[in-house]
Amino acid sequence: MNISAARRRLTTDQFGAQSAGGEWSKAKPLNLIVNNMPLPLIDSPTMKPVVASRRSIPELLAPLNQIAADSPNLVANHGAQFKCGDQTYELPRYLFIGPKGGDDTIRLGIFAGLHGDEPEGVHALIQFLSMLERKPELATGYCLFVYPVGNPTGFEDRTRPARSGKDLNREFWNGSVEPEVKLLQSELVSHAFHGIISLHTDDSSQGFYGFARGATLTKNLIEPALQAAEQFLPRNASETIDGFRARNGIIRDTYPGALSAAPKVRPRPFEIVLETPQAPPSYLKEAALIAALRMILTQYREFIAYAPNL
Ligand SMILES: [Zn+2]
Repeated sequence: MNISAARRRLTTDQFGAQSAGGEWSKAKPLNLIVNNMPLPLIDSPTMKPVVASRRSIPELLAPLNQIAADSPNLVANHGAQFKCGDQTYELPRYLFIGPKGGDDTIRLGIFAGLHGDEPEGVHALIQFLSMLERKPELATGYCLFVYPVGNPTGFEDRTRPARSGKDLNREFWNGSVEPEVKLLQSELVSHAFHGIISLHTDDSSQGFYGFARGATLTKNLIEPALQAAEQFLPRNASETIDGFRARNGIIRDTYPGALSAAPKVRPRPFEIVLETPQAPPSYLKEAALIAALRMILTQYREFIAYAPNL
């Protein structure tokens, strides 16, 4: 390439880069450094300080609260408060009362957002409740106690642990002083759930999988749930997942201190943790989680109907 051609190309490239960059190339230098700390690029032409990227829980839950205001089925159960520094936080709680079934009401506890950097489950639960509002018959026979944001400070900060620095899903039933954990433990004790479902995200997994614990029938619930999720996301078929032995995407073990029924509770409720991979698009992750939840409701209702003494 001769020099003039190289020059021409350079000029063209510069021009191209500039026109493609447009306003961004002028705004960019503002992004780079404040107090010697590199700032993340914020997806907005007006530059905001880093704290502006905190998530808003009131904004997140506004659609649900609006539904609850007029719904005969959905109740927003405010009042579970705790302190973090000098701020008062609320642990969001919702109750969905399905149409009456033939048998005694089944109480399920459904939890998401215990890790603040896993918004998939949070959004899935919000959508799930909105869907039940439109089709309450899906929850026939159930009273669903739903905790969409188990770790409000972590959710705001987009961090796995709470603002205290603690991973809340390692703090259950070991004398923890974390206020979120104490609140959730008292919910677990007072409602004596027949089943407990937790939603999580795994950034190291390529596929959907789950943990199954507690009542013997749990394995009969999780397999159809994973099948339902498979309509949207592949299953993790590895023999080892997250350091645990796994079979067909099912782990029969757990971490010490993970959210569960109180240790001495008998009979044990079924306990299922659903784990979505992090990489796929949000709509697929949420659809997979919702499909799995729907399937668990259907399956468990059938078990109860046919085997009341389980
Ligand atoms: Zn998690």
